[in-house]
Parts: sequence; C-alpha cells; structure tokens
Amino acid sequence: AEEALRQAQKMEAVGQLTGGLAHDFNNLLTGITGSLELMSARIAQGRYGDVDRYVAAAQGAAKRAAALTHRLLAFSRRQTLDPKPTDVNRLVRGMEELVRRTAGPGVAVEVVEAGGLWSVLVDPHQLENALLNLCINARDAMPDGGRLTVETANRWLDAAAARERDLAPGPYVSLCVSDSGTGMSPEVMAKAFDPFFTTKPMGQGTGLGLSMIYGFVRQSGGQVRIYSELGQGTTLCLYLPRHRGAAEAPEAAPEAGAAPRARVGETVLIVDDEPTVRMLVTEVLEDLGYAAIEAADGASGLTVLHSDVRIDLLVTDVGLPGGMNGRQMADAGRVSRPGLKVLFITGYAENAALGGGRLEPGMHVLTKPFSVDVLASRIRAMI
Ligand code: ADP
Ligand code: MG
Repeated sequence: AEEALRQAQKMEAVGQLTGGLAHDFNNLLTGITGSLELMSARIAQGRYGDVDRYVAAAQGAAKRAAALTHRLLAFSRRQTLDPKPTDVNRLVRGMEELVRRTAGPGVAVEVVEAGGLWSVLVDPHQLENALLNLCINARDAMPDGGRLTVETANRWLDAAAARERDLAPGPYVSLCVSDSGTGMSPEVMAKAFDPFFTTKPMGQGTGLGLSMIYGFVRQSGGQVRIYSELGQGTTLCLYLPRHRGAAEAPEAAPEAGAAPRARVGETVLIVDDEPTVRMLVTEVLEDLGYAAIEAADGASGLTVLHSDVRIDLLVTDVGLPGGMNGRQMADAGRVSRPGLKVLFITGYAENAALGGGRLEPGMHVLTKPFSVDVLASRIRAMI
C-alpha cells in the first residue's frame, strides 16, 4: 500500500510539473507569436519605429523559454554537459566578487579554500551556476543579514560514509555553502529538491534551483546533501568525484562586441535536418564573410567531407535522420580529413552519441538555443 501511495504521489507530481510547464510555455509562446504578428502588421503599415519594441519583447520571451528548458533538462539529467578538469578553488575565487555583490552588504561572506585541493571533472559553467544558486538561497534565508561561508575540501569517503551518501567509496572534493539563516524544517528538507517546490512568495521563488543542482551533480557522478536545523542555519554540500589529472586553465570568455569577421575563402559545412536552423546559421556565416555549404543529413554531409572542397570547420547537429548521427559523420569525415574541426550544436539528451561528454581534441559543443553572437565567436575562435 505504501508503494502504491508513493507511486500515486509521483504521478501527481509529474502531472503538476507537466501542467505548470505547459502553462509557462504557452505564456512565453504567446509573447513570441504576438510580437511577431504585431511586428508584421507594423511593417505592413510602414511604422518601422515601433518594431524594435516587439523584437525586444519576442527576444525576452524566447530567452525565458530557453532558461526554462535548460532547467528542466538539468533536472532530467539530460543536459549536454561539457566536463573539464576543474580547479574548484580557482572557480570559487572567480565567483567571489559576484557572490559578495549578490549577498548584499548585510551578509558577511567568507571563503575557505582547502590547500592541495584535488581536481574534479565537471562542467565549470554549471558548477558556477550551482554555486550562485546556493548563495542566492543562503541570502534569501538571511533577510536580516548574517554569515555566508563557501568552503572547499578533499574528502575520503569510506564504505559507511559513501553508503550514507549513495556514492562509491573513494576520494571526493566537497564544495559547501553555509548560512546562519532560518534553517529548514524536516518537512521542507524532504521536499527541497523537488522541482517547483518553494516556500518563497509568488513570483520570487521558482523552486527549480535545488532540483537543477541535484540533477547536474548526479549527472556528474556526485551527490548533494543538506545539513540544516530550524533557526540555526543551513549547509548544502556538493560532493564531486576526484579527477586524476591536472586542471585546465579556464578558457577566456568570448569578447563581447561586434562578431569577428572571416578571412577570405574560409568555408564552413553546416549539417542540420531542421531547415530553419540551417538557414539561420548560414545567414550568420554569410554575414560574417564565411562561405557556407549546407547539408540536411549525415550521408550528404559525408559526401561533402569526402570531396576535395575546402572546409575549415564542420558545424553539425548531433541527432540527424538517415541512420548516421553527427558524431559518426564527423568521425568518418576525419578519416580523410584528420584533425577536422567540429562544432556540435545540440538540443539535449545526446551525451551518449557525443561519447558521454568526452570529446576528442578539436571537437566542441554548443547547446541550442544559442545567440548569434556566441555562435559567431565560437566559429571564429575554432577556425
Ligand atoms: P527557490 O529558491 O526558488 O525557492 P530552490 O529549489 O532553490 O527554490 O529551494 C527550494 C526551497 O528550499 C526554498 O524555497 C527554501 O524553502 C528551501 N531552501 C533552500 N536553500 C535554503 C537555505 N539555505 N536555507 C533555508 N531554506 C532553504
Ligand atoms: Mg533557489
């Protein structure tokens, strides 16, 4: 009976989740389609001055929709991660200023870095995101100010400690965020990782922060634990498995501003089965001065790769029709073009095809949806 009850509660939660999403998505879609309709009406009337507003509105709604799918994919542990050997101390240091500003003047922020911290294999941007989310939760729990501590440590989990955390015994790096705030009741603690569970007022909490962190950390082979007492404060710890190997220096962020332009003759092959995506990418490339060649599936992409036309970069979707995915096409193309540079653009859930997030040198991933600027900078940087 207990099992049946649990199952019923799970279905209830899934139903709520789906309904909540459909509702949010319809709102965002209405923002986009409505703006497009008004835009085309104003253009027909020759009132070009009004168009910018609708463009901005549509872009804003599309960005929020993208953020929503991103969180959901994180929760479903199907987001495309780009794990890199990472020095968590360096990552925390890079975030310290932002954390201080986010916490506000009433909160004293302290960072405690372990010496000789091990490296971990993790998507650094997602870890930054997780850290920031934990700090925002900590700040929200201290409306009258208090103390926020970010602490890293090496941890060796023995059999008992590992079993308690549902992990394999062995070496881990912990990243903990502690606050001196309200703390959580056992009821809140039990539900804190559920998607859409929030105790914050309407419009303030999404209830997706911790669910997203949980999905990301589990997908990265780690675990999250809450230690909290009502009225005493809270510590949230992420445990990430140790990676043997040195950490890489973080990549320089692509510089903002005008997208960099191509050199004469530089050619990009784009393979995507979605004509709209192909059209967009091609137009961006041509605007930037690259020659673009299009293909709609793996077989025709491979035909181009086997020819002797110049190709400086392959940009391809991972999921392609016709029995050959983007990764397989790229691998086959590299037989005749060793070292061919490849940028995979992918929507979701294609980690397995990409080799579980482990890519060969010269292969990179960009997740859909992406902004035109980011695409242009990535292409330029890779070529
Ligand atoms: P949100 O922040 O949008 O409410 P989260 O998933 O980040 O969603 O957190 C879910 C809930 O867990 C919060 O609403 C809050 O009740 C509780 N919580 C999370 N972090 C803390 C914390 N540091 N102190 C007290 N309660 C917390
Ligand atoms: Mg939160």
